[in-house]
Amino acid sequence: MLAQLYINGEWVDSSGLERIPVEDPATQTVLAEVPAATEADVNRAVAAAKTAFGEWRWQSANERAGMLHEIAHKIRAHWDELVELLTREEGKPRSENEEEFEWSANTFDYYAELGRHSRGRVIPSGEPRTQLNLVIEEPYGVVGAIVPWNYPLLLLAWKMAPALATGNTVVIKPSEMTPLSTLRFVELCCDHLPPGVVNVVTGAGATGEVLVRHPDVPVIAFTGSLATGQRIASLAAPMMKRTHLELGGKDAFVLGPDADLEPSIEALAYAALINAGQVCTSSERVYVPGTLANDFVEGLTEYVRRLRLGHGLEPGIDMGPMIGDQYRAKVEAQVAQARQKGARVLTGGRRPPGLEHGYFYEPTVLVDANHDMDIMVEETFGPTIPIMTYNTFDQAIEWVNSSKYGLGATIRTNDPLLAKRFFEEVKAGTIWINDPLTDNYAGPFGGMKYTGGARELGEEGLSTFMETKHVHWDFSAEKKSWWYPYE
Ligand code: NAD
Repeated sequence: MLAQLYINGEWVDSSGLERIPVEDPATQTVLAEVPAATEADVNRAVAAAKTAFGEWRWQSANERAGMLHEIAHKIRAHWDELVELLTREEGKPRSENEEEFEWSANTFDYYAELGRHSRGRVIPSGEPRTQLNLVIEEPYGVVGAIVPWNYPLLLLAWKMAPALATGNTVVIKPSEMTPLSTLRFVELCCDHLPPGVVNVVTGAGATGEVLVRHPDVPVIAFTGSLATGQRIASLAAPMMKRTHLELGGKDAFVLGPDADLEPSIEALAYAALINAGQVCTSSERVYVPGTLANDFVEGLTEYVRRLRLGHGLEPGIDMGPMIGDQYRAKVEAQVAQARQKGARVLTGGRRPPGLEHGYFYEPTVLVDANHDMDIMVEETFGPTIPIMTYNTFDQAIEWVNSSKYGLGATIRTNDPLLAKRFFEEVKAGTIWINDPLTDNYAGPFGGMKYTGGARELGEEGLSTFMETKHVHWDFSAEKKSWWYPYE
């Protein structure tokens, strides 16, 4: 793998010498090194994207749709290579990475079609015989796309596909922990795009900040942590720059009093532990009714104990490592604090014996948790399932809404009245009733409160990359009676 940047349709050297090693989190071996792009590198990428925008914005929607479909085909044609590369650098099981690529390819197909629909509208004019009033939607220009490591291709696709479909060009800043699959993916898809339409600058936060501060980047689409989102917002505010911020979460999982236990146990294990719990919409806190608590917790603990950990490329494993030491250390600190404050660990709560070379952490079930513990209120981003018991459904809803975050929430119930109350009263961008973490290309994804208000996917995800303009057109061009001099 080349330690280079991808700018204006070609591999180029960085102007700096700093390199960032990219590790396999399951073995801690270094897979490659990528440049820490400098200010000069970012300037070069933005200049290429700005020049490319001059032509790209005038491509017909049909031509752009064709190119986006080609990108989707390209992902499918290079499936094994891309899936293996992503599994090595991100760590989650191969099957989960296959899903990530399937969703990514489908996102390009979805926006290829949505992008060719007419946009804007004609509104009633003051003088309908001689005037036309149009509401048109235009691309911003150069989009800065800053992406995290947990779903690096999917979260890129959610930005890149609608941004391109609406005529923008893109400079991507992938996570420093997972840049390799992004670089290869962009190299492949740029076979189908004019040079400069998509560019990649690798690096860490400092490189991202140069992109955020760049005067020729009018919009930043960011997915990542609350702290980084706050920093980006503060940098962008004085420039009145548009920021679309998809930040952290602390999603609740509520077991309804009428819920069937066995499928609910499997639903929760999936929702809490997929990608080792490193999903923004992971179920990170669980509320169960007192009447079902014992049987539910017992069944869940047995189920979680049976999950198999290992390298994501090993057949038959259920869970891979965490992405890095500092992320695992945060989970360990939260579990230690919860224990010290009275929570009991029923399974997990340690690094698995025999897997010392990766950043593994056993899936962990805790009971007797409460809201004085960080593990119930702060984002964990790891494979933990802390459980509290509720007495009334009112109490459960109050607890769900007590979080500063508002990304998603799940309820398991067969009672339509409970489900309706839940989706109406819970403050979160996505409500899952019985089937957690299932996205829909046409359904907007995003959060409320401290999660940020951005929306990706659906028609909303297309609007994210367009500015609205009102055009008032008078065909007569004659002097108006209300102009100077006043009567
Ligand atoms: P992060 O905020 O550390 O990094 C995200 C990206 O921002 C990386 O590319 C990083 O290099 C870059 N970055 C860091 N500092 C920057 C700065 N000062 N200026 C500009 N860019 C900067 O997040 P992470 O650890 O990569 O990802 C995990 C976080 O992402 C979690 O909090 C998770 O909840 C969140 N996330 C949210 C969603 C969502 O849709 N809401 C989806 C996935 C992940």
